[in-house]
Amino acid sequence: PYPTDIREYLYKILVIGDLGTGKTSIIKRYVHNIFSQNYKSTIGVDFALKVIQWSPDTVVRMQLWDIAGQEKFSGLTRVYYKEAVAALVVYDVTRPKTFEAVPKWKADLDSKVSLPGGEPIPVVLLANKTDLKDETSTSLDPEEMEQFCEDNGFVKWFGTSAKDNRNIDDAARFLLEEIMNRE
Ligand code: GDP
Ligand code: MG
Repeated sequence: PYPTDIREYLYKILVIGDLGTGKTSIIKRYVHNIFSQNYKSTIGVDFALKVIQWSPDTVVRMQLWDIAGQEKFSGLTRVYYKEAVAALVVYDVTRPKTFEAVPKWKADLDSKVSLPGGEPIPVVLLANKTDLKDETSTSLDPEEMEQFCEDNGFVKWFGTSAKDNRNIDDAARFLLEEIMNRE
């Protein structure tokens, strides 16, 4: 038969984490393949759309929600989380404080959104700015990171660099697989 049936999905995906960890940079890299030292942080929420041909008959639209200016607040509002199906939590490997904040972001998320069945939404942890890693004392021990993910309910972690375009596609693909497997 023609036209063939194309399945289309639209997913709301949150990108959260402390100020300056690279949330906007990761989104710009993933969606537009660009990097800049300077993204204006306007107050509010930005959206970016990444369209993926998941399979010959399946198109996925990933609507990435980028927070700006709300990072210092104690958690985001429920409205912001509403109907999100997955999230990326970002920290900056050169600033341990942003890692310490990760469980806080995760707890805020889990308290305000869940899948229709009640399970927590899949969340991937991004250890960003790994291009700067060798210049700092921060080391990423894979075993410790895996344990951290297990303890805090992250489905996986990736060391990323928005600057060098490292691991961002892989992390997004992994997250999307998690979402699609639950469909
Ligand atoms: P946000 O506040 O979480 O949205 O962070 P931004 O995306 O605005 O990034 C904050 C700063 O870190 C900017 O100067 C970016 O250029 C820089 N930055 C973001 N990602 C990386 C990265 O992977 N490597 C390096 N070296 N700098 C980055
Ligand atoms: Mg930003």
